[in-house]
Amino acid sequence: MSVKITIHRGAREIGGSCIQIESGGERIIIDAGMPLLNKDGSEFSGDPKNILPKITGMFIAGDKKPVAVLITHAHMDHYGLIGFSDSDIPVYSSEGTKRLIGISSVFSSYKSDSNRIQSVEPWKPFDVGPFRVTPYLVDHSAFGAFAWLVEAESKRIMYTGDFRGGGRKRVLFENLLKHSPKNIDALLLEGTTLERKEAPLNSEEEAELALRDLCDKTDGLVMVFSSGQNIDRIVSLFKAAKASKRELVIDVYVAHVLRMLSDLSIMPVAEWDGVRVFYPYYLTRRLAEISKENWLFPFRHKKIGSDELRNDPKRFLMLLRPSMDFDVEKRLNLKGAKAVWSMWAGYLEKPAYIRIQRVLKLKEVPLSQIHYGGHASKTELVELANALSPKKVIPIHTFHADKYPQLFSNVHILDDAQPLIL
Ligand SMILES: [Zn+2]
Ligand SMILES: [Zn+2]
Repeated sequence: MSVKITIHRGAREIGGSCIQIESGGERIIIDAGMPLLNKDGSEFSGDPKNILPKITGMFIAGDKKPVAVLITHAHMDHYGLIGFSDSDIPVYSSEGTKRLIGISSVFSSYKSDSNRIQSVEPWKPFDVGPFRVTPYLVDHSAFGAFAWLVEAESKRIMYTGDFRGGGRKRVLFENLLKHSPKNIDALLLEGTTLERKEAPLNSEEEAELALRDLCDKTDGLVMVFSSGQNIDRIVSLFKAAKASKRELVIDVYVAHVLRMLSDLSIMPVAEWDGVRVFYPYYLTRRLAEISKENWLFPFRHKKIGSDELRNDPKRFLMLLRPSMDFDVEKRLNLKGAKAVWSMWAGYLEKPAYIRIQRVLKLKEVPLSQIHYGGHASKTELVELANALSPKKVIPIHTFHADKYPQLFSNVHILDDAQPLIL
């Protein structure tokens, strides 16, 4: 008997994560992610059907199916291929992840049926086939992210998923250092930041303070481009707005996301004082077209029209998404306005986000960057590896597996599809 680990994708790239653990003839899969990049480094544009991991019973016809798929979090590069998998295989995630996948699926061309996901509580072990699995809630830019511990035949394998140590749930990282699971045979450790220069901001609080400072210094509308699912960032925006005596304006999609998650954790919602809801032109039409009027109605009483926004723009901090270029161009008063890119800088190159940058340039709105990313710094990666002190550290979710041996002991570098027997 032996336990075998295979990284189907993600051993030497960021995105498309998919790991298989095999024991006693049974397999369990962690993550089924969409790749982020093509082979030439451009944004992934292929047909997902052509790049499905070669997993029989899941993506390829076969009698024997994996016993389960465990999802770390609601970023496409970790769950985006679920919709292509055999629907009889049980899928597990946190409740937050399940709900976010359900929301994203409304707009995605690759549907992931969130109804088939069974949500599980963090830190409560459960058994699937020969595997005992334990989810660990971690701090990441996706709400409700898990790391997973998988045990079989007295071998213990931990996969961090994506994590960091400076978000609003940093206590989760600190607790993982203080009360680390012991006797880990293999730690699959993300290494997103290894190739990046040290981030200018080291915590979500720093982002909040920088946003507040910018609000104080702006005599016009402050527009912040951010993901509508980055709850930590939305909390920062709410706090920065409040401190600088502005109202936070969110769009109806973000209002819906917050409404769907707000029973799971404290977060600003449309009903709160100081929060207003904007109805973007195209999004509102689109939601009506796809019969999602129920996303529109609940926030009517907090609606802010473009007249009110135009009259006194310096009273508002507006969370915008880069797809709302029409509203920025036609519906806002941009006199004295400032814009902030509060997402990964790499997205500035994304073809879909070029138009909004052109609009800002045309309207002479300065664009600066305030962002704290979703991934552990080198120091935090080392802290975690030291605390867990695994027998093997296996690089994943990184373009720089070769840098691991400089930072960690017992590094075992794998290629995609190259099995490791424990
Ligand atoms: Zn990721
Ligand atoms: Zn992620």
